Order: sequence, then structure tokens, then C-alpha cells
Amino acid sequence: MEENWDSDGEGWDTVQAPVAASHNVGVSGSSTNRGRTRGGYTRGQGQHYNTTWRARGGHHSESRNRGNFRYDNTNRKVITISSNKVGRVIGKGGSKIRDLEYETDAKVKIGDSSGYSTEITLFGTNDAISKVESLINELVEERKPPTPKENPNNHKNAVSTATNEVSIDRNEYMMLNENGVEVIDWDKLNAACDKAQKEKWERLPKVNKNFYREDPTVSNMTPAEVSRWRLANNDIKVNRTFEEKEGLPPIPNPVITFEQAFQDYPEILKEIYKQGFKQPSPIQSQAWPILLRGDDMIGIAQTGTGKTLAFLLPALIHIDGQPTPREEREGPTVLILAPTRELALQIHKEVIKYEYRGIKSVCLYGGGDRREQIDTVAKGVDIVIATPGRLNDLTKAEHLNAINFSYIVLDEADRMLDMGFEPQIKKSLFDVRPDRQTVMTSATWPSGVRRLAQTYMKDPIQVNVGSLDLAAVHTVTQKIMFVEEDDKEHTLYEFIENMNKDEKVIIFCGKKATARHISTDLAVKGIECQALHGDRDQIDREAALEDMLEGTVNILVATDVASRGIDIKDLTHVINFDFPRQIEEYVHRVGRTGRAGKTGIALSFITRSDWAHASELIKILQEANQDVPDELQKMADRFSAMKLRKDRDGGEKRGRGGWNRRGAYY
Ligand code: AMP
Repeated sequence: MEENWDSDGEGWDTVQAPVAASHNVGVSGSSTNRGRTRGGYTRGQGQHYNTTWRARGGHHSESRNRGNFRYDNTNRKVITISSNKVGRVIGKGGSKIRDLEYETDAKVKIGDSSGYSTEITLFGTNDAISKVESLINELVEERKPPTPKENPNNHKNAVSTATNEVSIDRNEYMMLNENGVEVIDWDKLNAACDKAQKEKWERLPKVNKNFYREDPTVSNMTPAEVSRWRLANNDIKVNRTFEEKEGLPPIPNPVITFEQAFQDYPEILKEIYKQGFKQPSPIQSQAWPILLRGDDMIGIAQTGTGKTLAFLLPALIHIDGQPTPREEREGPTVLILAPTRELALQIHKEVIKYEYRGIKSVCLYGGGDRREQIDTVAKGVDIVIATPGRLNDLTKAEHLNAINFSYIVLDEADRMLDMGFEPQIKKSLFDVRPDRQTVMTSATWPSGVRRLAQTYMKDPIQVNVGSLDLAAVHTVTQKIMFVEEDDKEHTLYEFIENMNKDEKVIIFCGKKATARHISTDLAVKGIECQALHGDRDQIDREAALEDMLEGTVNILVATDVASRGIDIKDLTHVINFDFPRQIEEYVHRVGRTGRAGKTGIALSFITRSDWAHASELIKILQEANQDVPDELQKMADRFSAMKLRKDRDGGEKRGRGGWNRRGAYY
């Protein structure tokens, strides 16, 4: 039992210590320190303290995430920082404060801001206060590049960054600039870092990447048979992404059965049989030979195609097949980066279904319990599934060592770039050995993703499954309903009233505020529903998904946070309450239903202001053999006529026509 700090400052109460949920793929039972970089995580007095920011804020999910905290609340110190830097101390959703408190055993309370400055009260022992104060000072001080002296590599298990590997005399890297001022000689320092990095990688044991023995039946397929098979299987297209170089092996033939891929790995086959799958999905058929052979691969495929298993099973074999025993490795072997926590959790759920030789995994995502994540890593894991921000956070804080990653997956790379994660991806991969195997999946193939492939992959083979996502919407009946903006809610409620008990629906809204309004309104009407949007805390977002997955509720009101990657089985309907801003998003939303061999219905409310999307929507409907309402065609015609008119008039209004408040042209 642990003592618990009561949020209202009324003293101590006692709660059961939460059990850290470590997510294992077959627990090996040994308590090694694999993947651990910090020599354990026991606290000063041999006690585990756990705090959550949310719990103290009187959050309505308190019962799910109750915080425990202990400090000396009579000893305090007030410091003042510039108000514009308070955000750095608080962090996203209070995450930084949680970290600070956890790292130091102090409590941090942000006070009122008086314009330019804000008071922060620090509680705890003198030692805790001084630790937290210095961490806060680090956070708020202007960021400047580290010099070699400031970043010494002084303990064996330190996470290696290029800079801290260089233990050299500071003076060696200083020079006088044209004004005679002493500055850092960055060229020289960078060269030293590169050299140190290279030496560090050279010291690592070689990576084993080839685990493939082609079955004679597969080898004997004729090129015509291979082409026919690919065409019949979602029109798979396989090619080298960049130029064909001499000496590269030919693209392997697809495997038609699980046994052809994993004949040498009966335990893997056993795991597949447990799932009851009948045959490899198209992407798996083509990806397994490529990945088992050790090639880099780009899969242009969306969720629902079996892409997770396509990269996961070769990853398990890769982990087990490395020369250094798992318990002696300096860090985890496989890294799977995903754009959102929901997707990361979903991948993790898939990963833990497969038990192979005691391989363990962890899911690291912002907003989740950081301490629990750190503890799981410290116990030793082989697979890290992470969102880019949290991964960098933990590697920077030396809780996780990236040196041993030799199989990397960038899942939904296009989405990660859309969300602005490119710098974080770069940072994550900076320390990872260059002779790794790299896999990337993406639903689309824009220039940003191409650039990423060019920078981080080696002679990748690209597997395109069907045309851009459209395969998914073929199993969905897509209906269009023309409504006035003000009638949308009424139409929605009518639909809900007529829903059957066994129907499940996601209602997509364009704005968080709309999603919030509708979910509240439904609740007021006594209709059970859940909401999923960026304003909700992680714990609530997870609960929302769980409720839908379990069928506790059958209505989810969401923003586009939920449009990609989320796999809610048995979802029967998607409602586009607001039409999405981008047509790609429409495809992703609609693809939430009609999955895994089932059919689904998508109903889109279209108002006059959506006319700019009409022609693209028509293309999608036609491609999927759906009815195209006359009104939609008229809308598209009106829009193109308006554009023509605008082009002719040189894009100027000249007193006639314009955009009304609804975004429609008059
Ligand atoms: P994913 O595309 O990875 O999100 O996978 C979607 C769903 O397909 C998951 O629930 C998988 O368990 C399932 N799945 C993966 N491979 C197969 C397969 N070969 N046959 C049937 N279902 C599969």
C-alpha cells in the first residue's frame, strides 16, 4: 500500500499501489536489464512514487488514473519564471510537470501569472526542491547548442548521441571568428561527431537480416503466373522505388501460403494458426519474402490490409536471429513509429497477440503513464512501439537506448509528415545504426514520403496494394444526403432514433467544438455515446475506443483523429456530419467501415458550401460503382462554371459574385 496525496491539499489517504501493466509478448520470466540504460529505477527511499497531474486537477476520470504522491508540504520555495515559458514547464496536458515531479519527488504548483512573470511553488525536501529547480531552470533557459564540455559522456550506459560520445578538450573545438570572438568550430565538431558515431556503429556486432529460404513451389512460378497472381490480388504492384542498380537481387515471388513463408519457423506458423487465418493477405504474400530476405520495403497500403502482420512476423524472426543474445543487448531491437497514440496502441494490441520466444514489447506514447512506460523499458523489451515525441523524450532522458535498433518501421509515414513529425523522425533515426532494415508504410505517396524514403532507406522495394485506398471503399455503400447546415442535427438525431441495437456508428465532425456539442447533446437526450477528439485526455480517448470495441456504446462522435488506422470491428455506419476538408480524409473515414470482409454504409451530409468537393466525390463514387445523385453532378457543374468564370475574370470579383458566409459562391 502507498500513501496518496489528496488533490485538494487535505492530507493523506491510502490507496492500493497500482500494478504496472507491462505488456509482454510471452513473458520470459527472467529479470534481465535488457533495453535498460539507467541501472534500474528504484527511488531514493526504496519506494515507488507515482503522481498524475490529472488526478490533482479533479479530473473526471480520476477513478481510472488515480495519482499517488508524497512530499513534505511544509517545505517550499517560490521561484519566478517568464510567463511565456510556463508552457515548457507544464508540457502537453501537464506531462512535463508529471515528469519533473516523478524525477525529483518534489511537487510543482504553477501560480498566478502577473503579466510577464509567473510564480511557481516547489514543495518537498531541500534536495528535491533544488533538483526540481535546476530542471526547471534548464527547461526555461534559452536553448543553445551544447559544447563538448557541457555534454560529457561520463557513464557507461549513457545513451549515445553523436555529441556526448566525443570526450575531448573544449579548446580543440573553438576558433576565432572574423571579429576575433571565440566561437565553436562547428565543422570540426561535426566531423568529430560523425567519426565517433561511425566508430560506435563499427563496434556493434553485424546485423543478421536474411532469414529466407524460398520454397521450390515459389521459385518455380513463371513470370506470367506471378503477374496473374498479383493482378488477382488487389492488383499488387511491386517495383524498386528508386533506380535499379546492378547487383541487386530480383524482386522475390510472392508466397501463396503461410507455410511457404515460414516453413523454417514452426512456432510462428503455430501463432498464425491460432488466429484462424486462412491465407496471407495480398500485402503479406508479397512483403514476407522481401522482409525475410532483409530488404528495405515500402508498403503503400492502409489499415485493414493486414500490413501490421506483414512487418511484424519478420520482425519477430529478426529479433531472435541476431548474434548477441537478447539479454545482453544494450537496448531493444525493433522500433515501430506510429503517428498517433491510438494507432500505436492498436499496433501494440496486434503485437501482443503473437507469442514468440519470450519477446516483449512496450507501447510508448505521450499522455500515457510515463513512469509505467519507463519501468517496462527498464525491465527489458525487444519491441518498442512509439509515437515520435514520446520516443525522443525517453531517449533524451536516457531511459531508452536507440543503439541496438536494427529493424525499424515507420507506420503511416504520410500521416506522420502531415502531423509535422518530420523533425522528430529525423531525431529518432539519428542514432540508429545505418545497416538496419527499414520498413515504411503509407496510404499515399506524396513527395515528403518519397524524400523520407530516399534519406532513410536503402534500395527499397515498393509494394502497392490496389489504387490509393479506394479498394477499402468498395465494400461500403456510400450515400449522400443534401441538407441545409441548420438541419444537420435534426437529420442526425432522426438517424440515431432509427438505429438498431446491433448497429455501430462513427459520426465525423469537422471541429472539436461540434463533436463536443453533439456528444453532450446526445448525452442530455439520454443516448449513450462516446467522443474522440483532440481535446480529450488520452485516458478518455482510450476509454472511448474501448467502449466502442467492446460494444458498451455504439455511437462514437469524432473528429479526424479517428479517421485513419482505427479498427473498430463491426462498425456498420460512418456518418460524415461535416464533409471533410480533403477528399483523402473522406476515403479514410469511409474506410472505417466495410472491413474484414464485412459491408458497411457511409452517409455524408452535403451542404451547399461543400460544392468544391463534388467533382472529386463523384470520381470516388463512380470508381466504387455507387449511385451519383443528380444534385451532386449539378453541384460539380456549378462549381466548375464558377471557377471558369473566375479564371476568365482574372480571379477578381469586380463587384459581382463572391464568397458568402457559408463559403459558397454567389
Ligand atoms: P491491419 O491492416 O494490420 O490493421 O490488420 C487488420 C486486421 O486484419 C487485423 O485485425 C488482423 O488481425 C487481421 N489480419 C491480418 N492478417 C490477416 C490474414 N492473413 N487473414 C485474415 N485477417 C488478417
